[in-house]
Amino acid sequence: MVKYVCFMCEKRISEEMMGKRVRCPYCGSKILFKGRSKPTTVKAV
Ligand SMILES: [Zn+2]
Repeated sequence: MVKYVCFMCEKRISEEMMGKRVRCPYCGSKILFKGRSKPTTVKAV
């Protein structure tokens, strides 16, 4: 199953949750990226 990660709130969103509208059901952001096992995050050293 393809899961997306919200760019704004970083929650994982399944396709079922989005339906046909590509946007975050939590915060309404339209900026999502496809998350694999781990979302790409940058941690400060
Ligand atoms: Zn969100």
